[in-house]
Amino acid sequence: MNKEEFVEELKKLKIEINETQLNQLDVYANFLLEYNKHTNLTAIKEKKLVYLKHFYDSLVLTPYIKPDQKILDIGTGAGFPGCVLAILNPKTYFTLLDSNNKKIKFLEELIKKLDLKNVELINIRAEEYVKKNLENFDLVTSRAVADLRILTELSLPALKIGGLFVPLKANITDELEASKETIEILGGQLETIEKYLLPYEKSQRTLLIIRHTRQTSLNYPRSYDKILKKALKNNNK
Ligand code: SAM
Repeated sequence: MNKEEFVEELKKLKIEINETQLNQLDVYANFLLEYNKHTNLTAIKEKKLVYLKHFYDSLVLTPYIKPDQKILDIGTGAGFPGCVLAILNPKTYFTLLDSNNKKIKFLEELIKKLDLKNVELINIRAEEYVKKNLENFDLVTSRAVADLRILTELSLPALKIGGLFVPLKANITDELEASKETIEILGGQLETIEKYLLPYEKSQRTLLIIRHTRQTSLNYPRSYDKILKKALKNNNK
């Protein structure tokens, strides 16, 4: 997907992008590919695939992003989806979190280059950060980080009541089935499952819309070890 095709595909999603933002994405793609030659950030090596698999895929979240909101991207890596969304939504505040110091270093340089004022970078494990930032965000997202059950425990406690947890996933059926109790126990409610195909290569993607409807017990999130080992069951409440 070249730049012109990218703009055309965004139009189909009714996403507006201006010249400044297009230039910022171009700088982003070049810097990512350059940096990737010495530091492993992404398996993608071609610019047209950066536009398709990183930029377009990140921007499908656009309809859920509103001005003045606080958004948390857990395991942002090289900024997907959070940094791409921050470029197109300059009036929304983004916290991009990753435990990998090399990725945060890359993002520090990137946001300086792009002069982004609406991005905060946090180099810490999600479970530690969320424990100290309960009910703080309007929306939490995450792409390609962990199984839905694990992500749910990392994300729901960080959301204000009424906020949305919107993970980007490939195929979700089994993961969703295994996460239903966790979502319920942590005070979430699944509202929508949005399926779409990436243009050109037509691979399946899923956006889940899960609302934080009631307060999560202060026992969560647990340590990562415990989250991994013990799935939440209703009789553990
Ligand atoms: N979201 C990006 C994307 O879609 O390209 C990066 C995906 S990468 C496969 C997973 C990232 O999640 C890594 O950068 C890793 O360091 C981070 N990660 C995994 N578990 C984490 C945790 N518990 N806390 C913070 N970061 C985590």
